[in-house]
Amino acid sequence: MRRVYLDHNATSPLGPEARSAMRRLLDEEAGVPLGNPSSPHASGHRARLVVEEARRAVSRLIGAAPSEVVFVSGGTEADNLAIQGIVEPGEPAHLVTSSVEHPAVLEACRKLRERGWELTVVGVDRDGRVHPDDVMKTLRRETRMVSIMTANNETGVIQPIREIAAGVRERGILFHTDAVQSVGKREIDVGALGVDYLAISSHKMGGPVGIGALYVREGAPLRPLLQGGGQERRRRPGTEAALLAAGFGAAADAVRLPGDEDRMRGLRDLLEAEVRRHLAVSAVDIGLVINGEAAPRVAGTSSMTFAGIDNEALVIKMDLAGYAISTGSACSTGSTRPSHVLSAMGLSSTAIASTVRISLGPSTTEEEIRRAAEALTDAVAELASIGRAPLASGAGSR
Ligand code: PLP
Repeated sequence: MRRVYLDHNATSPLGPEARSAMRRLLDEEAGVPLGNPSSPHASGHRARLVVEEARRAVSRLIGAAPSEVVFVSGGTEADNLAIQGIVEPGEPAHLVTSSVEHPAVLEACRKLRERGWELTVVGVDRDGRVHPDDVMKTLRRETRMVSIMTANNETGVIQPIREIAAGVRERGILFHTDAVQSVGKREIDVGALGVDYLAISSHKMGGPVGIGALYVREGAPLRPLLQGGGQERRRRPGTEAALLAAGFGAAADAVRLPGDEDRMRGLRDLLEAEVRRHLAVSAVDIGLVINGEAAPRVAGTSSMTFAGIDNEALVIKMDLAGYAISTGSACSTGSTRPSHVLSAMGLSSTAIASTVRISLGPSTTEEEIRRAAEALTDAVAELASIGRAPLASGAGSR
């Protein structure tokens, strides 16, 4: 059975470019060992060159200067560094975020609240959109930062970052965006967006797990979260991971936009149309709602609610049939709490328990999508017929 991977938002498989860049480095290591980038000998210089080349590749992808890119361990650390790294000794201040953020942002904000900061969490509409006016209304003299994600990991819904950032920064307030699900999937230019900080994760864009980056606008304040050496221009101590950086940089260089985006959007639209078509001709009467469908969405992500179908059973059935999909974000999988993102969009806990996320990558093919649409509808139909029997006998409520 050839397995089909449709969970790219959880993590994307290592792309061929990242794989060969890392392999080349490992093979070459037999000659000159890859040293510590801070060491003054040939091995150290080599590692430094690798790290700086990767930094240039990542900065090119987002329209930043290389000196504005800080390598960290991943998206979670990038978000934490941006949010907790602005804390100055003295008076606690106020910060604003949205109800659909990734836990990396929400929990970092809550950490500041524990330290006496005030936190305002702005809601979203039923399509998962943050309204710029709602953000502007929360701003006060003591507001120090606003953090709103570029695109959501569960629904793909894109936020009006440029508009929000302009209003926020006009008032002298810092603006951070978690762009983990956007970089590599759509054009991101930090200058055009007008942000102070932007979080990136390598493993969401075909690079290795264990590295990410925080864009820090030249002149924007940042205190390191960890205490240690002076690496990354004193913004993130610890020996730079040259091997991972090589993979990350190669993945950044391999991004082809808008071509990849157009292709993935086409395939996502095909998937949704095919699932609807199969459902319409099947004997089962199951409604399909696509969450965030009316909003702009990042290409390749679809959040589907099949009324009355148990999403965990559906994911398992799809896995047995050879398809990797998910019930929502990977970090909430296995948790008994319903998705805070879908709940903020007004979905009931029953609807959330019937929702799956399908996320595509540049390697996804049309044939895979056509097969997946059929497998998904078959699985839904089968679960619907099983679900109905116990209901008819008066049992089986979830
Ligand atoms: N932010 C968003 C929107 C994400 O989807 C994720 C990962 O799922 C993260 C942050 C965390 O990134 P990482 O897994 O690299 O720590």
